[in-house]
Amino acid sequence: MVVCTILFLNACNKTPITKLEQVINRGKLIVVTRNSPTTYFENANGLAGIEHDLVSLFAAELGVEVEFVINDNLKEIAEMVERGQVDFAAAGLTVTPERENHLRFAPAYQQITSKLVFKQGKRWPRNINQLEGELRVLAHSSYAQELLKLKEESPQLHWSETTEQTSEELLMMILDETIDYTIVDSTELDLNRRFHPELAVAFTVGKPQSLAWAFPKEDDFSLFTQAIEFFGKKKSEGQIAHLVEKYYAHVEHFDYVGARQFHKATQQKLDKYKDYFVESAGEDLDWRLLAAVSYQESHWRPKAKSPTGVRGMMMLTLRTAKQLGIANRLDPKQSILGGAKYLRRVLERVPDRVSEPDRTWFALAGYNVGWGHVEDARIITQEQGGDPDKWSDVKERLPLLQKKKWYKNTKHGYARGHEPVKYVTNIRRYYDVLVWQDEEQQSIPQPDNIGDGETIIAEKQDEETSHVSP
Ligand code: GLU
Repeated sequence: MVVCTILFLNACNKTPITKLEQVINRGKLIVVTRNSPTTYFENANGLAGIEHDLVSLFAAELGVEVEFVINDNLKEIAEMVERGQVDFAAAGLTVTPERENHLRFAPAYQQITSKLVFKQGKRWPRNINQLEGELRVLAHSSYAQELLKLKEESPQLHWSETTEQTSEELLMMILDETIDYTIVDSTELDLNRRFHPELAVAFTVGKPQSLAWAFPKEDDFSLFTQAIEFFGKKKSEGQIAHLVEKYYAHVEHFDYVGARQFHKATQQKLDKYKDYFVESAGEDLDWRLLAAVSYQESHWRPKAKSPTGVRGMMMLTLRTAKQLGIANRLDPKQSILGGAKYLRRVLERVPDRVSEPDRTWFALAGYNVGWGHVEDARIITQEQGGDPDKWSDVKERLPLLQKKKWYKNTKHGYARGHEPVKYVTNIRRYYDVLVWQDEEQQSIPQPDNIGDGETIIAEKQDEETSHVSP
């Protein structure tokens, strides 16, 4: 309908068509983005990243397709927007006063801070005047702009800028000690730190900042206005918060000791149990998810026990084990098989309309606290105007089950509702690391006879790391 009217007007009046009309006529948005974990990337399920998802939603609102143009150079990205080669940039760009001089920013979709990063174990600089060694940042980045301002106060400050590496590569260069410091967005650091716990924050540079799409600064506001409306609508519907939760909720709080311990365990213990996880996962479950659950439950200790009598790799109660036909909970193979069966049962209870990955998070919460309580929290969520099919909404309400005011009106009553929230967050973090390690391993040819030595270390370590029974 819109298209007809536009074409008609255009043909008759010969008025120059607006930006919005151009997009509708060509049937697609042309958007420049960067290929990075904080913006746009490919994963096992296809294209992903917060910018990818946001732009796809926007395009759906306009009824058009999207063509993503990839460019990792921040200067070129700005130039492409200014020259009108693309409709806008959705590239994890920080809103800065300098950029606002020549770009027009849409409403922010996320807040970040800039973190100065160094390698754990090296001297910790507490402020910009204590840097010793090479500081390298992305050329034309918000950090480069911030450093210029800081140099006015600290004239001795020096750094280098690069268009050759990405933020992620700069982080890796800190680990291999090619450089001493870099500055990255907090989001970028959070995502990388789960895999590389040695990445340490020295301090936050400047004030919190916003990420937003950048449009050309031109007289035509037609597409820009649509973007403003889009963000207004999606914010009030809670969709922006859902996306931020999807990509970042589980990585925000970083625990160095816990992450180190987990990395060590993946190297020293996982091999011993991997076949059991793979076998029990079968075709329908992901073995890495089962392994993550098991690590959360027992730290991969077959004899783990809790004061309440749950035991084994998957911490099954005696009753559950019996119901699942598990004779010996302390046998790792049986315990893992039992855990997988139990997880399948909970998964079946999650309504079909709940889509992945939320479906998995709901099932895990049910595995931890009992599905009935999750249902109660979903009902409260709905009553409060939230979406009962979204994990990000329900996890806000689960802790209410600890309060009398709330649990007294529920079917299943009191529950320690903050526990499943923490439980799911931890498992998501472990799972991400396992997926990453698994993919790395698949890309390296494995020698056949590596197993034995590692198994011996694993046995020695086995009693060392228990969080369940000291
Ligand atoms: N947000 C930064 C900027 O706009 C770039 C972020 C990054 O490279 O991850 O300059």
